[in-house]
Amino acid sequence: MIGRWLSDLVVGKDRRMQARLGLCLVSMVIYGCWIAVLLAYAVPRQLMSEATAHFFVGYISVALCVFYPLVRSGLTRTWSDPGLVAPQILWASGAMIIGYAVAPVVRSVAFQTLCLIQVFGFLSLRPKVAAWTGGLTTAMLVIAWSAMTVLGLSDVDPRAEALKILASCFVLVLMTVQSRSFGLMRERAFHEKRSLAAAAKALRRITIHDGLTGLYNRAHMQERLEAEVQRALLNGHHFSVALIDLDHFKNINDTHGHPVGDEVLVNFAFQGSAVLRETDVIGRWGGEEFLVLMPETEAANQAQIAMTRLRDKLRSAQMSQGAADLRARFSCGIATWSTQDTIEQVLERADQALYRAKSNGRDRTELEPPLTPGTTVADRPESAQCDR
Ligand code: GH3
Ligand code: MG
Ligand code: MG
Repeated sequence: MIGRWLSDLVVGKDRRMQARLGLCLVSMVIYGCWIAVLLAYAVPRQLMSEATAHFFVGYISVALCVFYPLVRSGLTRTWSDPGLVAPQILWASGAMIIGYAVAPVVRSVAFQTLCLIQVFGFLSLRPKVAAWTGGLTTAMLVIAWSAMTVLGLSDVDPRAEALKILASCFVLVLMTVQSRSFGLMRERAFHEKRSLAAAAKALRRITIHDGLTGLYNRAHMQERLEAEVQRALLNGHHFSVALIDLDHFKNINDTHGHPVGDEVLVNFAFQGSAVLRETDVIGRWGGEEFLVLMPETEAANQAQIAMTRLRDKLRSAQMSQGAADLRARFSCGIATWSTQDTIEQVLERADQALYRAKSNGRDRTELEPPLTPGTTVADRPESAQCDR
């Protein structure tokens, strides 16, 4: 419990933030070790003057006070290098190069450490940043060596030192190239992942939607019905289904042509989606048939209100650009699911109600007969309520 609280405090809960701070924490530990080595080992043995050691402690403290707090605060989240990896690499490299110039004890480890510092950029730097971070480190090293040689500050033979500098620059350049190619690979992988996710999303859209109307297709409506049954069994609420069939649609096709028929289907889908509640789900069930799933609609007449709304809307809605007077009418059968129902049974009852709506003259909604106490779905009478 305390461990978790502490971990949340130090690295937060966001996984990206944790990865960034992980790197910061590793460098903080390394900085801490350096301070300990300088103060407890180098100074007492006079391998480094106290003034130089204090300079380095100050230099390192700047890193400790700036990098981790900045990243942890979340301020850098939107920056191009949110983990401040490049500045950290340059700051640490700067320490090594200054150490190389002014502290002979650091000189022996400076080159290896400079190369090691570059490794920190391998996993997170973007290709461009990796290139200029490595380039800048190499340049700083060459400048330090040149300044020492020109100003005569070096206590070792500059020609012998040149070979070491050359070898280090060679390794640094190689590592920079490598770090840049890691960056390129990561960028490529990132773009591939993104386009794969977009393709999967598009594919899912195609598989669950009807190509003409954009509504859910029959297969997806089946899935939604199954899910709704599970939900209804858990929460005890019932749902209704409305099976809609456009009236005399064949006439529309025959009179105005198939493209106008298509337009009517699209506009019907639009009007249907517009009048329904957000929780209702409408799908294309077949040619000119639609199914509406209405969750938490206990009584069939609640669903009927929605269908009346749709019917009213369609009385004035323009269904085709080319045939301004064309109006769509529909017949509808509504059934309400009850606990002992299968999906097929409730759909069958909605279909029977739709059939009655057609036989009774179309352009109307018929409800399945209500269950009277003591009867089961199988005992339903043939009579039904009707709405025009
Ligand atoms: P009813 O009132 O009895 O339902 O008569 P109807 O003419 O609507 O029904 P019928 O089943 O005779 O005809 C349905 C028509 O719907 C026939 C078919 O060509 C047409 N249809 C099915 N799918 C599409 C489609 O995607 N686009 C168009 N334009 N027409 C379609
Ligand atoms: Mg039909
Ligand atoms: Mg029809």
